[in-house]
Amino acid sequence: MDQTDGIRDVVIIGSGPAGYTAALYTARAQLKPLLFGSSIFVGGSLTTTTEVENFPGFPTGIDGPDLMDNMRAQAEKFGAEMIDDDIVSVDLTGDIKLLTDSAGTVHRAKTVIIATGSGYRKLGLPKEDELSGRGVSWCATCDGFFFRDRDIVVVGGGDTAMEEATFLTRFARSVTVVHRRSTLRASKAMQNRAFADDKISFAFDSEIAEIKEENGMLAGVVLRDTITGETRDLDTTGLFIAIGHDPRTELFTGQIDLDDEGYIKVDAPSTRTNLPGVFAAGDVVDHTYRQAITAAASGCQAAIDTERHLAALA
Ligand code: FAD
Repeated sequence: MDQTDGIRDVVIIGSGPAGYTAALYTARAQLKPLLFGSSIFVGGSLTTTTEVENFPGFPTGIDGPDLMDNMRAQAEKFGAEMIDDDIVSVDLTGDIKLLTDSAGTVHRAKTVIIATGSGYRKLGLPKEDELSGRGVSWCATCDGFFFRDRDIVVVGGGDTAMEEATFLTRFARSVTVVHRRSTLRASKAMQNRAFADDKISFAFDSEIAEIKEENGMLAGVVLRDTITGETRDLDTTGLFIAIGHDPRTELFTGQIDLDDEGYIKVDAPSTRTNLPGVFAAGDVVDHTYRQAITAAASGCQAAIDTERHLAALA
């Protein structure tokens, strides 16, 4: 096992808006950050979408991958060092944090910023990924505006699905909630709101069996009855999948305090975790907002928390 010579002031794990913003701020604070941005998913969640219309500063919108390239270039301009590789194991418990990359090299640092994000749960159907940003979405706040006067399908039966469905009625002509069971998991209040909405109808005991595509865009779905197995076509040009998220925290289990759903607990409003010198930012912490701008903002907070922690050590 190789070990790098120097001890870094800060290593950042994750190349989404939180990680890149933390890199920008720590680089401008002369901390010479090293960022690990994944071997296969550089740039994070926004690289899987097309147009982003709600990131301030881009009045005509910007493609997700371009926005992430810009963030990276801005951090690199101030000296942030990027390695497109995964951190595969960590020991964050000591004063000097140890992070091992996929080649087995151990990197040492006084502080670590965790910005590994969270993954939207998927249906696991063919065309689902291919049509992301082309009719298939995981985020009503992000994409609802693109679906004005459309017939939309929302998959899921929990609070998030009800929230997404209710929010989407601002834009949609109709919203059909597809749920595998005959009753919803959502809280009574959320259910009542959805039931009372004229635009929302429900397909209970149903699942999506197929996603249909035409000319590179979503062109409908096939529903399967989970009891009888019968299938039927449902016309839609918008499919919102709201079946949950998985924070990327496997690496940290047993070292960092996580909440019941596996998100990193921080000492809010700071980004401090239970381990001194370890900070966390972005969707790996955030149950609620999950936006590029909120992730970037907490990346900035993590950088400032890191800077102050290092100043106190000096
Ligand atoms: P992420 O962007 O998820 O980045 C985390 C990165 O860390 C990933 O690249 C991951 O591979 C990497 N990583 C994880 N583990 C390791 C490891 N061990 N080693 C190295 N790297 C690791 N938000 C908006 O504001 N507007 C939108 O229009 C919008 N559209 C969206 C469209 C889609 C399809 C999706 C999926 C999300 C969208 N979002 C949008 C939400 C937004 O993308 C997220 O809120 C934001 O990207 C979260 O940033 P993050 O930095 O916390 O994590």
